[in-house]
Amino acid sequence: MDDRRRPPIAEPQANTGWGPSTRLVHAGLESNDTTAISVPIYQTSTFSFDNAAHGAELCQQTGPSHLYTRWGNPTTHALELALADVEGAEAALAFSSGMAAGVTAVMAMVASGDHVVAANCLYAGMTELFDHVLPPLGVETTFIDPAVPDAFEQALRPNTKLIYVETPANPTLAITDLAAVAEIARRHGIFTLADNTWASPWNTRPIELGIDAVIHSATKYLGGHTDVIAGAAVGSREWINQVWPYLKIFGGCPSPHDAWLLHRGMRTLGLRVDRQNASAMEIAKFLDQHPKIETTFYPGLPDHPGHAVAKRQMQGFGGMLSFEVAGGLEAGRQLLDSLRLIIHAVSLGGVETLAVHPASTTHSPLTPEERRRGNVTEGLIRMSIGLEEPQDLIADLEQALA
Ligand code: PLP
Repeated sequence: MDDRRRPPIAEPQANTGWGPSTRLVHAGLESNDTTAISVPIYQTSTFSFDNAAHGAELCQQTGPSHLYTRWGNPTTHALELALADVEGAEAALAFSSGMAAGVTAVMAMVASGDHVVAANCLYAGMTELFDHVLPPLGVETTFIDPAVPDAFEQALRPNTKLIYVETPANPTLAITDLAAVAEIARRHGIFTLADNTWASPWNTRPIELGIDAVIHSATKYLGGHTDVIAGAAVGSREWINQVWPYLKIFGGCPSPHDAWLLHRGMRTLGLRVDRQNASAMEIAKFLDQHPKIETTFYPGLPDHPGHAVAKRQMQGFGGMLSFEVAGGLEAGRQLLDSLRLIIHAVSLGGVETLAVHPASTTHSPLTPEERRRGNVTEGLIRMSIGLEEPQDLIADLEQALA
């Protein structure tokens, strides 16, 4: 007798009434049908069929199934249940990177002849998609100031299919009023997609504010430990079913081991982000009063132009900030070269504090005009605040500025 066990595709738990921290610890475990407390890593590329008819049936499925790991995998599915839960959505798909998630989600929504309205300040890879990859395929994008809700409405055309935003924006911290944009889009029957990487779902849940779907570079706050590259798309079950065939074709599935690492990281999201929110606020205040800092961009500061909206839609103001040093690019470079504790590297959202000069690194693939359009100035320094003692980070900044 064949008594091998076929891992089931679990459904999300019914509403448990649990609070967000409890849910972070337990979400996704419903798909674990073993007695191991941690979800097993199904490090396999493929799954055996019961018989020929079963193989043929699985190959006809139009959603994730345990057939081949690019189609779906039990470890990844546990993660996907947790991703949907943390964003307050029906369903999710995990990807091999944030770019895989973003590109796959956008390609599932647009076709030749369509128009997109996108924020003028985004992660550079997504700007490159809209500005360089999609136009030869017949998809045009209008870039607008994401801090002005009316700008979205004014940019709409009869063929607009998608509104794409990121808030707070990378690297300027521009804030988009998600509820206002969702309301405009709903009136015109346009799909809204938000990159929620910078806020993290602990601070902002766009779907609860009316946005249709969310993508993530899960490499950042969701993973949280600077040890995995991954992405996520989260939304209604109907939308996820629409995106899944593109995931299957483009092939951006995560490895089961990375899915497991990401799921493990997510269980401490709340603790980490609460601490990062508090430390970033402290550091923003320090920078804001420092004579060598010209401008500090942090939505928690009362004079930030997006402060009132951020207060409404964010539970905390996040762990990301940026600033301009007096003396411009040269002074900024000197500051980065003088840091002793803060690590000079791209990426963000991990346990360690990182600093970077966007114009010459993360946003260097863009043309100077594309950077100007998004207000990515030459002297801007971006920081991702980690879990170190804020006093140690301030002391490092103080000595570097001196
Ligand atoms: N979205 C945002 C806001 C990002 O900051 C990044 C990467 O820095 C991405 C998407 C791309 O994610 P990944 O590097 O995981 O592909």
